[in-house]
Amino acid sequence: MVVTSPHPAVEIPDIDIWEFLFERTNREWPDDKIIYICPETKRHYTFRMVRDAALGFGMGLSSSWNLNQGDVMSIFAHNSIDTPAVIWGCHWAGLTVAPSSPLNSVREYAFQLTDSGAKGIVTQRSLLPTAEKAARLAGLRQDRIILIEDAPDATLPYQHFTTFIPTNTFTGQQSPRIKVEPSVDLAFLCYSSGTTGHPKGVMLTHTNIIANILQNRACDSKYLTWHSSSISKSESRGDKIVGFLPFYHIYGLTSLVHVSLYAGLSLIVMPRFSLQKFCFYVQDYRATFANVVPPVILLLAKHPVVNKYDLSSLKMLNCGAAPLTKDLASALYERIRVPVKQGYGLTETSPTTHLQPWDRWDVWGSIGYLLPNQIAKFVDPYERELPVGNTGELWIKGPNVFKGYFKNPQATRNSLSADGFFKTGDIGHVDDQGNFYITDRIKELIKYKGFQVPPAELEGLLLSHPKVNDVAVLGIYDEHVASEIPRAYILPVKGVERNTETEKEICDWLAERVSSYKRLRGGVCWVNEIPRSPTGKILRRHLKDNIEKENVDR
Ligand code: AMP
Repeated sequence: MVVTSPHPAVEIPDIDIWEFLFERTNREWPDDKIIYICPETKRHYTFRMVRDAALGFGMGLSSSWNLNQGDVMSIFAHNSIDTPAVIWGCHWAGLTVAPSSPLNSVREYAFQLTDSGAKGIVTQRSLLPTAEKAARLAGLRQDRIILIEDAPDATLPYQHFTTFIPTNTFTGQQSPRIKVEPSVDLAFLCYSSGTTGHPKGVMLTHTNIIANILQNRACDSKYLTWHSSSISKSESRGDKIVGFLPFYHIYGLTSLVHVSLYAGLSLIVMPRFSLQKFCFYVQDYRATFANVVPPVILLLAKHPVVNKYDLSSLKMLNCGAAPLTKDLASALYERIRVPVKQGYGLTETSPTTHLQPWDRWDVWGSIGYLLPNQIAKFVDPYERELPVGNTGELWIKGPNVFKGYFKNPQATRNSLSADGFFKTGDIGHVDDQGNFYITDRIKELIKYKGFQVPPAELEGLLLSHPKVNDVAVLGIYDEHVASEIPRAYILPVKGVERNTETEKEICDWLAERVSSYKRLRGGVCWVNEIPRSPTGKILRRHLKDNIEKENVDR
């Protein structure tokens, strides 16, 4: 049976992100509302500063680089308060933005540059060693690298993004903005492995992103506002969010970067997560909200350092990207008396499809209600629709569902049903109150602390190791970090010793080739066979069941 959203439908305007964010007529807060704050450098951007920097960068880029509408700009950076202006400057110039993880290895980043056909790179000084090498591998000229953050540095052979901003941006003749078709043209190309295989470019249109901002706000707009909160310092009214989720991942990109500017919320931008800094910023800024992932809930619930800080300004936490157990959510509440509600989504759905309502956070274990303008159903392994309450694969349809995988029609066809539902690869059910639950995953993806670890990518690399005959990589839940960790099940080449030295050698070898979060934290298990189907597909479920029965010789 098809399930509809309990939220009233929202109107999704047929405009592009620039017009939606910067030309709206119903914006309530002033131009000087502070939106992005860098707690380390004390720099900030007001709404006006973001708009002006984006406009100037977009104009400068259009006039000095020979670009066409739809060309791709790669952003390879740790979270920075400069990133939002750069993103929307690219949109002003009609470009598609492809955000990449700053943790990527040269090989991983070069793949994304080549696959997306990026015409330029926006990065940070600290990432130049990787960016330069990857650019060379992808055949991208060095003068196509632009820097953000730090101050412009004449000793470096790269332009700083601020040097693109024409001095006469606001006094002189403004060139017209490049118009795009919102429901067709791409705002972002985000990399995800989807249900199977290697990372692929997920094509997200302007309409996808706008829809998801409005869908998020349908749940949160009463509680997170630009003016609310009696506990905020008077000089900067309104809700304040501590943001450490990476801006390159769609969870941070939509929920932090876009929602903050759209809703006039202040975002305290952290380049990466540190428990101590997180607690300090919550206390110092009297932050009211944060988007988190389960391993962060674990730290907040258990780590002694938390006792040193006053976190009482937090009204709520929102946890997503991976399953949150009831025990963990309740342990957090017992300790700091801050409720945590869950959300769920995928890169392919821009991302949020479900959020727990603010007054239903105590429906432990649920991912909440379906957000507006979507319908969902659960299907059995034969893709037959199931009655409400039955467990099956979750399928979703709505304006936030992506356009497809970039240059990969086969993967696109496999991920969408004939009637336009996106097949999530997650297993769950819905109760008669409309609360959804995710209980398992049929797709092969592993998530380490919310980061995607595509098993097929690791298996492909490991198969090229001289001591590996066959291999399957699976995610094992590790309660010490409240996350899955990748473990390799390896059939070694004949004669190779199955011992800890070989294990270490293989783990170290892989670690040199992949992002740190893809390392084999779960180690290696030696097996006598990798179960495969007649077509050669790894029978992961079979292997998992065998492991559970402890048939594997560790
Ligand atoms: P990504 O495309 O990186 O956002 O990963 C999407 C996947 O993360 C989903 O298909 C789920 O497997 C997992 N996921 C996201 N949120 C949750 C959640 N609240 N509970 C369980 N799994 C989740």
